[in-house]
Amino acid sequence: AAEEGFDLQDVGGAIEEAGHGPLPVLAVVGRPNVGKSTLVNRIIGRREAVVEDKPGVTRDRVTYEAEWSGRRFKVVDTGGWEQDVMGIDASVAAQAEFAIEAADAVVFVVDAKVGATDTDEAVVRLLRKAGKPVVLCANKVDGPSGEADATYLWSLGLGEPHPVSALHGRGTGDMLDAVLEALPEAPAQTFGTGIGGPRRIALIGRPNVGKSSLLNKVAGEERVVVNELAGTTRDPVDEMIELGGVTWKFVDTAGIRKRVHLQQGADYYASLRTAAAVEKAEVAVILIDASESISVQDQRIVTMAVEAGRAMVIAYNKWDNLDEERRYYLEREIETEFGQVAWAPRVNVSARTGRHMEKLVPAIETALAGWETRVPTGRLNAFLGELVAAHPHPIRGGKQPRILFGTQAGTKPPRFVLFASGFIEAGYRRFIERRLREEFGFEGTPIHISVRVRE
Ligand code: GDP
Ligand code: GDP
Repeated sequence: AAEEGFDLQDVGGAIEEAGHGPLPVLAVVGRPNVGKSTLVNRIIGRREAVVEDKPGVTRDRVTYEAEWSGRRFKVVDTGGWEQDVMGIDASVAAQAEFAIEAADAVVFVVDAKVGATDTDEAVVRLLRKAGKPVVLCANKVDGPSGEADATYLWSLGLGEPHPVSALHGRGTGDMLDAVLEALPEAPAQTFGTGIGGPRRIALIGRPNVGKSSLLNKVAGEERVVVNELAGTTRDPVDEMIELGGVTWKFVDTAGIRKRVHLQQGADYYASLRTAAAVEKAEVAVILIDASESISVQDQRIVTMAVEAGRAMVIAYNKWDNLDEERRYYLEREIETEFGQVAWAPRVNVSARTGRHMEKLVPAIETALAGWETRVPTGRLNAFLGELVAAHPHPIRGGKQPRILFGTQAGTKPPRFVLFASGFIEAGYRRFIERRLREEFGFEGTPIHISVRVRE
């Protein structure tokens, strides 16, 4: 039954195109109420970015995928910030600072009806110092009569102001054309080919779990800020670190360093940076403070890495600080809170004593190998055939949906497409995932399974 009318190669190729490379990152910054969130929604073509802007609510989600003229990129929404907490100027400056460090290009949004304010000009100084490409968005130009307002913004010295109505969509196409010119092509030279330089690791975890301690421990004297190596990259926040005889690129390590002036709101920016680091990385090393209860924030970070489709290692830190009782409860918590990522290699470490540091690299290598695993179509179908014969899908409405055949459409992470004769229930999909993992490994990687029904 497996051959009828389907070219498996074609299917695989078409899906591979929609794969998960690291995409260039665009940050949208500007004062409160200039229309950032409205613009982000316009760019991503969805309504999801604008959520209840309740003070004190930290948004889980800050990056969104967008596409324009066939090019895909990430948009970071720096809106949703509670201004009261640290004052408008400080929050806008922090946004700009984030954008400077983590983004490939910036859209700076100004309210053309209001004109340039002192705060706007302060941000411009920050942006210009950073040297990242900036596209100036003169927002709230809802009709031709507003165009004159936009021209005043030449005074900011950021080049041509693009008159836009984020609300109605006017001018956004032209602005996005400018954005595409400003954004680098997806950094394909380092992705996946194995010839493009060191593998990229994001060391992530909530504040105080021990990220900078771990980095210092593993890096020792070897620590090199990438920016100091001429020509390696223009991003000053990645570091090359040699571990186990191999050089790795730890992405976005600037986010790990303490930011004294950002006491309040630090969590929000930590979550922005985590998202950005995960996007740039191939493998996420998630650090958990094992001496404390696993928190919602820990879970969010895990979810972020899974949803981004990255390879993953979970490191339980501060192992020197655990008594018998805490160890007991930790194991229970891991089972209940992290049951869905039981496939992630686990290491119990202490950044303080250096315990089990040598286990980190093998765990990372295992996760990357799982992430890159490709199952040949013949082997996959032999496996599926046996599985389906031994454990058929339950009969529904007098019919028995059957998996007809499958193909692995991509790697990094592994993605499968199964063709079925009827609707396959979620429970059966999970069963298939479980058996795929038993059979082929996939340690340290999420796997995606999509089912297409053939009538
Ligand atoms: P943010 O704080 O910068 O994210 O701003 P929002 O996207 O929340 O927008 C602030 C207000 O400006 C909202 O009431 C929007 O409806 C309004 N707004 C946003 N874009 C436009 C626009 O292009 N034209 C007009 N007239 N209003 C806009
Ligand atoms: P970060 O915010 O994740 O970078 O965390 P830090 O590296 O700054 O560590 C936060 C605190 O935890 C510091 O006081 C560290 O000394 C402490 N710490 C980090 N790793 C360990 C560890 O393995 N054991 C113990 N007992 N303390 C640790």
